[in-house]
Amino acid sequence: MSSSMDSPLDYDSTATYIELVRLLKPYLATFEPSYRSRPPEFLSIEAHDFLKLSIGVTDESMDSRGKLPPTRVCIDPNCAKALLADPSLLRNRELVEPNTIPVTIFTKEFGSIPGFATSRYCRNCHTWYFPNYFVQATERTYYAGVSMLIQSSQHFYIDKELCELFSVMMVTSWTSATNCARTYNSGLSNEAIQPSLPATWSTSLELDVQDVWNAFFLYALLLDNQVHGTILHLSHTAPSQFERLRPALHERNLRMAGVGQPGWNHACNLCCSIYIDEDGNEYVVRSTVTDGITIGSPCCAVHDCLEPLVSVKHRYCTLHRALDKQCAVTTCERDSETGFRTCPDPEHRRLESYDYLQGKAMFQLKHRLERLKVSQTHDSLAPGSSTSPNRMADEGDGDLMPELVDAPQGDDEDDEGAAEGPGADADEDVEIDVAGICEGKPETGNKTVRARFGRRRTHNEQLCVGSCGVILGRATFYGSEAPNGVHEFWMKLFPTKASLPQVLWHDNNCRMVAMLKNDPEEYLRNYFDRCALPVDVFHFKCKHKEGDLDDGKWRFNSSAAEQTNAWFGGFHSMVREMQTDRYNFFLDEMILRRNKTLTKDLARRGEMPYSIPRSELLKPDTLSSSSESPSD
Ligand SMILES: [Zn+2]
Ligand SMILES: [Zn+2]
Ligand SMILES: [Zn+2]
Ligand SMILES: [Zn+2]
Repeated sequence: MSSSMDSPLDYDSTATYIELVRLLKPYLATFEPSYRSRPPEFLSIEAHDFLKLSIGVTDESMDSRGKLPPTRVCIDPNCAKALLADPSLLRNRELVEPNTIPVTIFTKEFGSIPGFATSRYCRNCHTWYFPNYFVQATERTYYAGVSMLIQSSQHFYIDKELCELFSVMMVTSWTSATNCARTYNSGLSNEAIQPSLPATWSTSLELDVQDVWNAFFLYALLLDNQVHGTILHLSHTAPSQFERLRPALHERNLRMAGVGQPGWNHACNLCCSIYIDEDGNEYVVRSTVTDGITIGSPCCAVHDCLEPLVSVKHRYCTLHRALDKQCAVTTCERDSETGFRTCPDPEHRRLESYDYLQGKAMFQLKHRLERLKVSQTHDSLAPGSSTSPNRMADEGDGDLMPELVDAPQGDDEDDEGAAEGPGADADEDVEIDVAGICEGKPETGNKTVRARFGRRRTHNEQLCVGSCGVILGRATFYGSEAPNGVHEFWMKLFPTKASLPQVLWHDNNCRMVAMLKNDPEEYLRNYFDRCALPVDVFHFKCKHKEGDLDDGKWRFNSSAAEQTNAWFGGFHSMVREMQTDRYNFFLDEMILRRNKTLTKDLARRGEMPYSIPRSELLKPDTLSSSSESPSD
């Protein structure tokens, strides 16, 4: 069997080839004139690459050129060899030692297909060339562009069109990765293949939720690099695909924060109106709405700590990891006893048993059901279960003994990939207090004893939305939506006065205005002076005369922004168990995709969307204020 891998088109490969061509025939026929009944003389690049990868043969065997790995010679010019006949001529070094492994290819068109993937080696620079990337020392360097088949993990490839389909399903209908995998396995996979496979075939033809997530994130990263003309580098030695992708996801999250969304400088007829005053001066009035949507993910239990959790199973970030050993009673600094979450103090232990019993009680179940009503379930078949129980077995569950719930454990990263959690799990941020005397803890005296057992979650997401529905930016709030948080969000989103929209709707603007008035720093006190912060549509007060704005009336339609917020809230059950870096990347990617679709739609409807030059919006304050002062 194994010898067949290096000598393609033995009996097994031929059988596979014939089976595949039989399946491909109707597709290939569409490229041929209807009168021709013979096989096509040339295959399309897609069909060629597909067959080549499926049966693990070289380009030469396929009698054409292709790209898997995309090169037969080392691309490093230093590896070129002088020709014996003419030492002044150099020839690129041939790659050798082909290594072929069985893989499963998930395609949109043909379902899941068994195949082979080959890597080759340069003996001079010790580079391994794989289908998607080459490896030098410990680093993977991806080839430029997005290849047709994306390697989601060692033995699984997902075709680019399928990655695109999953991304579209997520953004348009909140389809979770679990439901993407279900849809694929029962709606798109090809059942004719399985019976013709040798019994010893080692890779599964079933698409797993982890493959969907890994492919989603890797595909988005490759697209992001393509847009920016950059090359993706990932670690080759990372312990899992989850850990491998994490630094790259984190890097883009930092870029996307504040002004990073491509829609940040959007403007169109719906979110902007042009006003001409008596002197003939033209003003553009850009209108935005800022609102909070209550979705979130686990975060460090230390108040206001922004450090990402390495794993959703942890309660503390790496900086605060030591606190995990402490008693769950908030005022107690003693270490908890092994197997417990509290110190041996009987009062503290009583709280822990209470928490455990509460987890089993009926009201908890009712609470779960209530949560399910308000959000999409991430698993259409069985809320609380998963397609791959082995990968999800240790997710939080009220039926486990306290010492087993959320106990610190080694990082089993493969679990993280699934990371959709049981939809509405019991592992909430539970705070329990009972009146009681805590002996040996004089500082608590007769006061209430309070303990925190569950994981802390981020409080909500803030969106700043143009009144056309395009999202300018997003930020995670760790505490409740105080005007302070919104103020901070606006300062990051609009770092220069020139970038400020003229109208900032926010339902707590009265407190915001009061807060700004009292700011001791003059710069901050006056920062929003040229903006209107309407209290509500009918009672706004601002520095402009009413006549400044469209015949004294605000043209404001909140429905687009409200729809945007409702759409965003639909991701609640998909993201609630996501690790911080994936959580941020996923939400940013959903926003990016929706903005793109919406902008196309606005153009089609004649609303003339355009991007205000970033240099204009980001020009330093001193310049912008002096140039604008005459018209003030
Ligand atoms: Zn080389
Ligand atoms: Zn707009
Ligand atoms: Zn922390
Ligand atoms: Zn204690």
